[in-house]
Amino acid sequence: MYYGAIEAGGTKFRAAVYRNGEKIKEMTIATRDPETTLEPVACFLGSYPLKAVGLGAFGPIILDENDPDYGLITETPKEKWRQFNIYRYCAERLRVPVYLDTDVGVAALGEYFAAGGTAQNIVYVTVGTGIGIGVIVDGKIFRGAHHPELGHLQVIRRDNDRHPSVCPYHDNCLEGLASGRSLTDRYQMTPEELASVDDVWELEGYYLGQALFAYTLAFAPDKIVVGGGVADQENLLPKTRKYFDLVNNGYYRYRRMSDLESYIVLPLRGKDAGLYGAYRLAGGGE
Ligand code: ZN
Repeated sequence: MYYGAIEAGGTKFRAAVYRNGEKIKEMTIATRDPETTLEPVACFLGSYPLKAVGLGAFGPIILDENDPDYGLITETPKEKWRQFNIYRYCAERLRVPVYLDTDVGVAALGEYFAAGGTAQNIVYVTVGTGIGIGVIVDGKIFRGAHHPELGHLQVIRRDNDRHPSVCPYHDNCLEGLASGRSLTDRYQMTPEELASVDDVWELEGYYLGQALFAYTLAFAPDKIVVGGGVADQENLLPKTRKYFDLVNNGYYRYRRMSDLESYIVLPLRGKDAGLYGAYRLAGGGE
């Protein structure tokens, strides 16, 4: 039985075919306009006799199944994707059931299944070009009436940080101050150069620590998984734990967060958390 998985990100699209829990083939393509990006993805997946496809898409996207615009991408800065219905395109083009959630929602789901029952509540944070958060509550992707957008959580600026936010909507949100885009804008360096600058990771840890503390207060998760390109830096998690601890100041305690080394962690599935989650969302098993 073959299943398709699509991780539709703002920078790149990845697609894969899974069988019996194993990824057997995959492709990656830079995100351009919808047709140029999706047509090769559909050709690739369409060459397999798929049972279903899981789709994790960047948003904001309409996930209310009773809404006639289910699957429509709404207010993205990527103009060509605005008002594009990615779900409808995939369902019509692939002619198999398509299961949809956000890119970070499916990544959180992937980590939930990867944890093999050891964590029922997970916050998944991706720190890449932008910042997105997926939440698993009691083993299910948390949506509310729409879906969380906790990358835009307001944070307290570090003393003397007057650098403009890169978020066009908010002057003091996490994505605006701590996304990969903000880091390159602040320091005018490549990601490789940024790796060895200590202040980058102090700053990044300062903002992420605040945000992860807020997510902890809101969801009381078993663990917080930090993925995305920026999370590859080995200094990021230690600094984030340090500031998380400072902000908490001994107030909030429960067993799962007593050891921050096992509470704030990298993804078990690494860069494949999203693809694997999309596969599981489609109904694929181990
Ligand atoms: Zn914002």
